[in-house]
Amino acid sequence: MFPFFSYIASPPFSIPLFLLVFLFPLPILATYSATGNLTNFIANNTWHTFARFIDAEKGSRPDGMADLKRYFTRFGYLQPENQNLTDIFDNEFEQALIQYQKNLGLSETGRLDYTTMKVIVSPRCGVGDIIDAGGVGVGGLKTTRRFTYFYGQPRWVRDAPMMLTYAFSPGYVIDYVGMPEIRAAFAAAFGRWSAAIPVNFTEAENYGEADIRIGWYSGDHGDGEAFDGMLGVLAHAFSPENGRFHLDAAERWAVDFEAERSKVAIDLESVATHEIGHVLGLAHSSVKEAVMYPSLSPRTRKVGLRKDDVDGIQALYGSNPNYRYDSRLESDLSSGWAVDPQRRKVLMAVAVCLLWLGL
Ligand SMILES: [Zn+2]
Ligand SMILES: [Zn+2]
Repeated sequence: MFPFFSYIASPPFSIPLFLLVFLFPLPILATYSATGNLTNFIANNTWHTFARFIDAEKGSRPDGMADLKRYFTRFGYLQPENQNLTDIFDNEFEQALIQYQKNLGLSETGRLDYTTMKVIVSPRCGVGDIIDAGGVGVGGLKTTRRFTYFYGQPRWVRDAPMMLTYAFSPGYVIDYVGMPEIRAAFAAAFGRWSAAIPVNFTEAENYGEADIRIGWYSGDHGDGEAFDGMLGVLAHAFSPENGRFHLDAAERWAVDFEAERSKVAIDLESVATHEIGHVLGLAHSSVKEAVMYPSLSPRTRKVGLRKDDVDGIQALYGSNPNYRYDSRLESDLSSGWAVDPQRRKVLMAVAVCLLWLGL
């Protein structure tokens, strides 16, 4: 049995297992309910194999732990020059883990506890989380506040009123979502940022001359940050004023969860909103509800800018004079985070069942 299932199959209370499965976060739900494709699902998402390290003790030497260290290296938590990674859960790894937990808004336990592991195996942005002294762009970040910037705090510098253009690569697009729907998703995503700051975005005809160039790529695509197949890394973008915005062509991208039934579908507009934040100069936030938080579960929409996102971007560009602060941005229950309709129905059904069972 897959380690996560054996972990959740022994709850300290008596809710039936089938109900627990529905109550747990979607990556697990997706894996469990897609039993027909379980082998493919795991094979396409190697991070899920890290779940076998859950609760590994400091000083232990679990087979394959070096792969988890490579994951931490990739996102900036271990030094890349240390190529002789061992399987030992050593002090250095514990410190990296604590820093990861801090950056991801988790309890800083220094242990591979269930909550931490759940975030580690979640799909996420390919941009790193930790400052790399010389780095600007993918992997070079600074983590002194909850919202963060790239090294040197780069931003777009243009005469006011600032206008940036974007365009879709004519050759690197997906074919199962229509261009009108893709355009609408990106227009909505750009619109959220322009509502907060005095920057306008317009779609350009000429891809080569656009400020922001958007495309879907597979595997190694020439910028040193290879994509990894379904789930895992979803997308990445470069800091100002680079403008490159790349999405992993191997994901199942969705603009409407009612129409796209895949258990591993990723909401295009949510990822677009996050990556535009990078294009503008924001790095990752430790606020779980923020758009700039690094991870995003399948079949989840998270498109509304939160206070942390707005504070970060307005500190770089100033405020749009028409921007009106909405106190709901501070609430964890604002409309910025939405459960997809299918999952909401399941959760409602579970709630009814629990009430009926008197649990
Ligand atoms: Zn990111
Ligand atoms: Zn790329």
